[in-house]
Amino acid sequence: MRPIDLASRSGVALRRAFQAQQLRRVAGSRQYSNVTSLPPTYEKLHNKYSEVRRVLGAQRLTLAEKILYSHLDNVEESLLNNTNNGRDIRGKANLKLKPDRVNMQDASAQMALLQFMSCNLPQTAIPASIHCDHLIVGSKGADDDLQAGIQTNHEVFDFLESAAKKYGLDFWAPGAGIIHQTVLENYAIPGLMMLGTDSHSPNAGGLSTITIGVGGADAVEALVGAPWELKAPKILGVRLTGKLSNWASPKDLILHLAGLLTVRGGTGYIVEYSGPGVETLSCTGMATICNMGAEIGATTSIFPYTEASARYLEATRREQAVKNAAAFQNFPGAGASEDAYFKFKADEGAQYDEVIEIDLSKLEPHINGPHTPDLSTPLSQFKTTVQEQKWPEKLSAGLIGSCTNSSYEDMTRVESIVRAAEEAGLKPKADFYVTPGSEQIRATLERDGTLQTFEKAGGIVLSNACGPCIGQWKRQDGVEKGTVNAILTSYNRNFRGRNDGNLDTMNFLASPEIVTAMAYAGSTTFNPVTDSLTTPDGKEFKFPAPHGLEGPKTPFDIGKDVFKVASQPPNPNEKVAIAPTSERLALLEPFEPFPNSDLSGLKVLVKVSGKCTTDTISAAGPWLKYKGHLPNISANTLNTAVNAETGEVNVAYDLDGSKHTIPELAKLWKERNQPWLVVAEHNYGEGSAREHAALQPRYLGARIIVCKSFARIHETNLKKQGVVPLTLVNEQDYDKIAAGDEVATVGLYDMLQNGGQGEVQLKVTKRGTGEEILIPVKHQVSKDQAGFILAGSALNLLSKGASA
Ligand code: SF4
Repeated sequence: MRPIDLASRSGVALRRAFQAQQLRRVAGSRQYSNVTSLPPTYEKLHNKYSEVRRVLGAQRLTLAEKILYSHLDNVEESLLNNTNNGRDIRGKANLKLKPDRVNMQDASAQMALLQFMSCNLPQTAIPASIHCDHLIVGSKGADDDLQAGIQTNHEVFDFLESAAKKYGLDFWAPGAGIIHQTVLENYAIPGLMMLGTDSHSPNAGGLSTITIGVGGADAVEALVGAPWELKAPKILGVRLTGKLSNWASPKDLILHLAGLLTVRGGTGYIVEYSGPGVETLSCTGMATICNMGAEIGATTSIFPYTEASARYLEATRREQAVKNAAAFQNFPGAGASEDAYFKFKADEGAQYDEVIEIDLSKLEPHINGPHTPDLSTPLSQFKTTVQEQKWPEKLSAGLIGSCTNSSYEDMTRVESIVRAAEEAGLKPKADFYVTPGSEQIRATLERDGTLQTFEKAGGIVLSNACGPCIGQWKRQDGVEKGTVNAILTSYNRNFRGRNDGNLDTMNFLASPEIVTAMAYAGSTTFNPVTDSLTTPDGKEFKFPAPHGLEGPKTPFDIGKDVFKVASQPPNPNEKVAIAPTSERLALLEPFEPFPNSDLSGLKVLVKVSGKCTTDTISAAGPWLKYKGHLPNISANTLNTAVNAETGEVNVAYDLDGSKHTIPELAKLWKERNQPWLVVAEHNYGEGSAREHAALQPRYLGARIIVCKSFARIHETNLKKQGVVPLTLVNEQDYDKIAAGDEVATVGLYDMLQNGGQGEVQLKVTKRGTGEEILIPVKHQVSKDQAGFILAGSALNLLSKGASA
């Protein structure tokens, strides 16, 4: 594998972009013509940054703002419209951004590519990669699982590979690694802006990139070269002091923060870390923290570029990127002020919308869960909490690794405690699974003996894929669905059923070290910091505090050839592999446009209570196999939602009183041409950036979703698919609407015609009594989004533009 430099590895698409950029520079930006000695990636950033400084003058900027605003399509238009002349950008400006690249995982790439294909373009406008990671079931171990996964999913992998060849994308085959780890190792470079079709894409913020998790429809916008729109996020500053010690790890920082902020606390914010504590963290530790920023709903997270970042780039054989970053930071811009130099850190005096201070020296390990990542308990209180809450005291399994926590540092810290336990004659009492994040990390851990240590201890090394993290876990311990049991993982997310599809599995999150030590105890009440285990010869054994290496002593081993990336120029003669009889893949039919009037005659399909995550709306696990087949996957729509009126799960009642599952009733109504809506509570659509959670309801006939609040990505996804997300002005109005009520919109059509300006109400006609109620609702529809909704979907608009 070559050293990674975006310019050198991105192939034809990026070269094309650079040529266009050269032309633009010659045509209109002569003041930058002195910029010849920067690598192209930074030359582009430098030019845009100079424009940002011209527009905003000496305004102090955070790092996130510097990178984000330097990716605007039209800097002046985005930063000066509706912003009090650039003074109130955050939360107000509509940023139209041109990302540098797009990264897609196999489950979401299918729909993204099916949508891209509808635009009939010969190639993508920017570089992109496909990572086959989500579809491999974790069960017996890497070799068996990978073979089985390829056999089961070959149709999808063939489709993705053929699309990569046709459109000139990088293709990472099954077993090559999990998207975020692979991106960190290969594509992340300080100052880039990337979109990833996965909510944990912000992982790359650990290497000072702005990387945002989006749905496939957003990715398609970037892939066709259209600007991608984002409401300018606010910036939440997290100032770190002190240094982690003993059992505390970067994971504990984000587990603690999730507890402080909750799953909604970061909504509308970029989390930017600063302070002297940053310098004490490894690059991969920073990536873990950014990865799990998704658990607080943040748009993304970012760390400054530090010496550890440079060391990681070198360890991953990207010495050139280190030199480039140094050259760029020392490259003078227009004018003589310090601001003319782009530094990968916030300007001195930059203001944050909110600031949280955390002293790393005082941080203790945390365990979060079950069933939500923000239920955070310090380790010292966990035993008492388990007993008070009557959570299971037996620990069934400990699972470490994944895209979140499989770094060299994580694994060698775990190795240190496994070795100590081995020497004492101990074996894990709970099942112990290890998921390397990529072939590169796996091969390096094998080369350096770490994996062998885990296997000797009885650990099962799974393939370099998502597996149990995304419900693809075939348990071998006989724990059946419906059995209450406890597991600990070092993954990032723990909604119900997330790992094994069992709603009664209590899934807790912790650092890999804590997971492993507790797996040895087989108990959720064991505290490795204070408690001891008894060895086979009756002695007391106390785990030493873990210690590890930030990175390998020699650069990472790139692993087996078969897992290397396939990079290729676009081949127009390549036929994209979709069989007409396929049950896994289906070409898309465009959705019908919005009518030339307000909506009327909608019926409430179901009123949902409690959490309604994207997992609830479109479950993963066994359903992942239908990601490329909209009609087939729609049979899971809302199938774990709780009916607010009856308390039943996945039950809805037709107008004649007959009982159905929610997706069955939606399908019946689709066949009857009965448009519908869902009513829900807070943070509707939190969780993974799963555009199927928007596509499926739309396909089945949903026109609006009404709730108390939305998760950001999902709200955007709904609009892109032509579904109107509306929020109740008065939360109590939730109680006034019931299943079967008829709903008409008032003012919606005018609002859409006016580019998102105007108020909307719902006229609810109560089923049975015929009583009419007017309910005020809010919306966040921008001008572009109004266009998407009127056209029927963003794709309808994009494909029109592309064919024009
Ligand atoms: Fe895969 Fe889990 Fe990471 Fe998502 S969070 S990319 S499912 S390992």
